[in-house]
Amino acid sequence: MTTAKTSHVDQTRALAGELAALVRPGDLLLLVGDLGAGKTAFTQGFARALGVTEQVTSPTFTLARSYEGRLTLHHLDVYRLDHLQEAEDLGLAELIDDGGVVVIEWGDAVVPVLPPDFLEIRLTLGDGDDDRELAFRSVGPSWSNRAAAVRAIAERFA
Ligand code: ADP
Ligand code: MG
Repeated sequence: MTTAKTSHVDQTRALAGELAALVRPGDLLLLVGDLGAGKTAFTQGFARALGVTEQVTSPTFTLARSYEGRLTLHHLDVYRLDHLQEAEDLGLAELIDDGGVVVIEWGDAVVPVLPPDFLEIRLTLGDGDDDRELAFRSVGPSWSNRAAAVRAIAERFA
């Protein structure tokens, strides 16, 4: 398991920004972790590195928002989904096929309706208020092939 540690929100954003350099059209990232873990903060750093200039906010009430950058970023938060059927209704499959990058907060909840090809990033709280641990798990070929590159980034945030 590849892990990293951050001790400031900007460090989490910076790590996300480095990962953004690895992404390709059609990529899927799942962000997992409790409220306040830093899933939206991660997405902000990721979006900025993709060239998104718009401010990325929590999509909790809108479920999905799209931003234009080097690639289109589809940012979803499925915390409020009551049924997997709603994920299908959101057009998740179409978003993933759209040629952009899809980032899903609370993504573990919708794994059954996702293609088995994604990078999962699990954020957990550390000892200090601003300490976070990030654990990276590649599922499927497209991210397994980039596991070494992910590890190289994570190692800089040890
Ligand atoms: P989530 O989307 O997981 O609910 P947010 O990203 O909205 O979480 O909130 C994370 C909160 O924790 C923010 O207020 C952020 O400033 C704070 N924070 C403090 N330290 C960190 C860190 N190391 N990484 C990410 N967020 C941090
Ligand atoms: Mg959030």
